[in-house]
Amino acid sequence: MSQPSFSKWNFQEVSPGPTYQTRDELIEWIREYATTGFHYIGTCKMGTDSLSVVNTINMKVWGVERLRIIDASVAPSSFSANTQSLTYVVAARAADLIVAEYKMKQKSAH
Ligand SMILES: Cc1cc2nc3c(=O)[nH]c(=O)nc-3n(C[C@H](O)[C@H](O)[C@H](O)COP(=O)(O)OP(=O)(O)OC[C@H]3O[C@@H](n4cnc5c(N)ncnc54)[C@H](O)[C@@H]3O)c2cc1C
Repeated sequence: MSQPSFSKWNFQEVSPGPTYQTRDELIEWIREYATTGFHYIGTCKMGTDSLSVVNTINMKVWGVERLRIIDASVAPSSFSANTQSLTYVVAARAADLIVAEYKMKQKSAH
């Protein structure tokens, strides 16, 4: 954009800006300003392998009877989309599972 053919639009580099040119300067800029995205997922992934935290049946933590995880952290892998809808789907599915489990317990109590 700094080429003469673009000059009439007066484009300027915004970020990291013209003052950061060398490799060291760019690394300095990254250290100062770079962040990860806003879509953290998968820290308690659902699955059956040795890295999974939550089971695939009722969203309970493996080996813990009374603890469920119901949020974006259960996503088993990363994907190229925003994560809010994933969270809604996880919550809706979990609500269904909890209601079904509750009804089953009620039924067996009578
Ligand atoms: C700036 C930003 C922009 C985003 N934009 C989009 C977007 O445009 N579209 C999209 O799809 N996704 C977007 N996301 C991602 C989306 O917000 C998340 O994927 C989603 O909110 C995850 O839901 P969650 O329930 O897993 O976690 P959260 O929504 O983070 O919920 C966790 C809750 O737990 C509470 N909490 C934490 N610690 C404790 C504690 N010790 N005790 C009690 N409560 C606690 C927190 O206060 C919070 O309310 C964005 C995220 C950010 C940060």
